Amino acid sequence: NINRGDEFGTLANSLDQMASKLRDDTEQIKQFAEKQRQFFADITHEIRNPLHTISAALEMLQLQDLDTDKKQKYIRSAQKQTERITRLFKDLKTLQRYDSDEYFIETREFDLLPIADYMEQLYGDRATDKGITLNVDDHSCKAIGDPGKIEQVIDNLISNAIKYTNEGSVNLRYERNEDSVEIVIEDSGIGISDEHLSRLFDRFYRTDKARSRDKGGTGLGLSVVKSILSAHDSEIHVESESGKGTRFWFSLPRG
Ligand code: ADP
Repeated sequence: NINRGDEFGTLANSLDQMASKLRDDTEQIKQFAEKQRQFFADITHEIRNPLHTISAALEMLQLQDLDTDKKQKYIRSAQKQTERITRLFKDLKTLQRYDSDEYFIETREFDLLPIADYMEQLYGDRATDKGITLNVDDHSCKAIGDPGKIEQVIDNLISNAIKYTNEGSVNLRYERNEDSVEIVIEDSGIGISDEHLSRLFDRFYRTDKARSRDKGGTGLGLSVVKSILSAHDSEIHVESESGKGTRFWFSLPRG
């Protein structure tokens, strides 16, 4: 009898555990489905807005008595929105590939110096036009990773730094430590308040939707950064102070 009682107790216990696991799994599936639903709602929204602007611009361009200045204005507006949709699809494609593990990174030893030089070429003028000093390290430093993907990470972080800085400086620094290389992108820009920091890398999360859209942002840049680094077994870190500036950093194995 005692044995049967024990058996029953063990059975009841494992049934209890199974039920509890099932509840957890169901909860996770529900959360996942909700995330997917939100993601598609966001995509629809992100495409609908620029399409409206393009269609309005095209309608205006059909008017007979439009002067050249106005024509140019509407053409530029349609072009800007087309570029935005193109960027959106590019970022979505990248994320989809990482999600489906279709994305293979090819790691090898590479030098950060050519990437830094390229960033200077790419963003030097834009920074100067905004009255920002772009300081980029100019020494050789070998790391292990996929150079093309790491360039995209640095590119996204510098383009954000310039976008969200109105004066002062944007710096790209890299430093070799004992067994890793630390890469830092910092700015003296508008900063990010604490309440936003934990969700910053979520898809389509923006601290200020209007400002981001106005600057041509897709709201996916930082999620792309996170996915690429995670494929490198690396993590992106951020610290920021509202009105003072922001610092992002990550590490790679040293070459
Ligand atoms: P976006 O296309 O909107 O720039 P991201 O995913 O690259 O999208 O960034 C998400 C949000 O994080 C931005 O909308 C902005 O609110 C904030 N952010 C990113 N980088 C910075 C920065 N250097 N300074 C201040 N805010 C930033």
